[in-house]
Amino acid sequence: MNTIYMDHHATTPLDSDVLDAMLPFLKGNFANPASQHASGNDVSKAVEQARSEIASSINTDPRSIIFTSGATESNNLAIHGVAAFYKEQGNHIITCKTEHPAVLDPCASLEKEGYEISRLAVDQYGMIDLDELRDAITDKTILISLMFANNEIGTIQDIKSIGDIAKEHKVFFHCDAAQAFGKIPIDLDLLGIDLMSISAHKIYGPKGIGALYLRRRNPRVRLEAMQLGGGHERGFRSGTLNVPGIIGFAKASEVAMMSMTQDSVHISKMRNHMQKSIMDSLDNVYLNGHPDRRLPGNLNLSFEDIDGYSLLAKLNGIDMSMGAACSSAISKPSHVLRAIGRSPELCQSGIRIGLGRANSSDEVDYVAQAIVKAVSELRESGNSVDRESCVYV
Ligand SMILES: *Cc1c(COP(=O)(O)O)cnc(C)c1O
Repeated sequence: MNTIYMDHHATTPLDSDVLDAMLPFLKGNFANPASQHASGNDVSKAVEQARSEIASSINTDPRSIIFTSGATESNNLAIHGVAAFYKEQGNHIITCKTEHPAVLDPCASLEKEGYEISRLAVDQYGMIDLDELRDAITDKTILISLMFANNEIGTIQDIKSIGDIAKEHKVFFHCDAAQAFGKIPIDLDLLGIDLMSISAHKIYGPKGIGALYLRRRNPRVRLEAMQLGGGHERGFRSGTLNVPGIIGFAKASEVAMMSMTQDSVHISKMRNHMQKSIMDSLDNVYLNGHPDRRLPGNLNLSFEDIDGYSLLAKLNGIDMSMGAACSSAISKPSHVLRAIGRSPELCQSGIRIGLGRANSSDEVDYVAQAIVKAVSELRESGNSVDRESCVYV
């Protein structure tokens, strides 16, 4: 049997049109876009075309796009870059408990250097409280970093209101939009976002390429560069550009914009069907995340009396994950499930299903039935808690 892939929050398969767009730049068009000869100029033109494509997909100016290696690097550059540049103005950063580690860890490292970090709590659905955000702002606050949509439970924050609050208080707003970009509309003309991180491999593009949006006016955001060298990307990110990645990123973004409405209707329909069939067949199943303000493909469930690892182990041939993907490093229950108030047992029993473009209704039915069967069997046998080591993706 072929594997059924339902882990689209971790990464997505490469779209075939994206691969086709990339191939010429992996073969003949290999020149360095910074080179002054004709071949270099040709590649440079293609890169600038790609930059325009990505910028227009979020309704902004191409010059506000800095290419990076992905959302992790964009988050690090945004947070460390603003902290370093504006350190005379203040040392306070506001973020949230349910952020991706690529935001939480740079903040924790700044804390060790003497910055003050406020980590907002969330409600049972994963939403921050806007009044708490307002109250957290001081005259030392230089940055608010809050994600667009959560990678574990799919909850979509009220980004427009957060941006308005940031503007009111003249504080920069950085948004990790790795999960939201390409799946829900983002119009930077309407949202008060000053810096935004996006990644290609979450939208059926290649791995190892992403971007940081950096607002150029009203207000202009300055940054201290973190990676120094030849002055690429207007000095913000030195290093020879990942040309095939950039071309693929732009194509993936073009495809995502064209198919966004259709995808989100189709995928959320399948997700809702899956949720209903599992919850109708089993008792004591808990939905993690917001019932409505949620990414179309996200379904995060906790099953009472079930260990998530044992459940996933029983679901042979189906790729899904715990809130975090397993590897051999550290072991912790999901910080997101803890933040929404799940008991340690329910944190340990959470599984994250991530539906995507290529999933079919048949697969959804098959997986829903497999989950119901596995949970019933584990409950009958009394399953053992068997933790493994985890890293977050
Ligand atoms: C995947 C993800 C990241 C990391 O992105 P990379 O491009 O893999 O570095 C950061 N934040 C969120 C919310 C993500 O989902």
